[in-house]
Amino acid sequence: MDIILLGPPGAGKGTQAKRLEQTRGMVQLSTGDMLRAARKAGTPVGLQVRAVMDRGELVSDAIVSALIGEHLDDASGGAIFDGYPRTRHQAEALEVLLGERGRNLSHVIELVVDEDALVERICGRFTCANCGAPYHDTAKTPKVEGVCDDCGGTEFKRRPDDNEETVRKRMEEYRAKTAPILPFYEEQGLVRQVDGMGSVEEVAAAIDAVLDA
Ligand code: AMP
Repeated sequence: MDIILLGPPGAGKGTQAKRLEQTRGMVQLSTGDMLRAARKAGTPVGLQVRAVMDRGELVSDAIVSALIGEHLDDASGGAIFDGYPRTRHQAEALEVLLGERGRNLSHVIELVVDEDALVERICGRFTCANCGAPYHDTAKTPKVEGVCDDCGGTEFKRRPDDNEETVRKRMEEYRAKTAPILPFYEEQGLVRQVDGMGSVEEVAAAIDAVLDA
């Protein structure tokens, strides 16, 4: 089963993708994570995308589709596309990449959220530097302050593009370039809407209901 989680930045795609990895043995393919890894490793792609990402703009279709092509076979038991595709061109590239492997999308889950609430959600988020477990300043703090619930790590990090100005730009990009790909998937009968404003558990239950229907 290959699925797309679609929604603006901060809608909860990453959190839900990580949960699906644990509960269903699927594999999260996040182009944002791949690009951040490339930056950290200082690869040519990493150097090329740094400034664009810091401005909250989209990197080129060719770069992200190549990254997905490199990682798609890691998720042969089922991929959760998180943050990809983000343009019509990427949606078409994904069809080709899946088709070449005899695979196809089973669901596009649109996380429907209130954009004003998202800025607060995004600007408060942080993750464990060791295992990547997600936290939030008000919505989900570690049970013991400064210690990761999952791995006991004591270092945490925040994304440099999780600041208000960049978040607004990222939302603008979503509205202008990503939301318009929904009709492409609606025509194929793949889109299911899920209310993304509930708790992590509520959203998870709604996604499970869609996948198990
Ligand atoms: P994300 O972690 O998905 O919020 O992505 C962080 C940043 O990486 C975005 O603001 C873009 O600059 C870049 N990015 C990630 N995925 C894509 C994509 N599919 N297409 C273009 N740019 C992307």
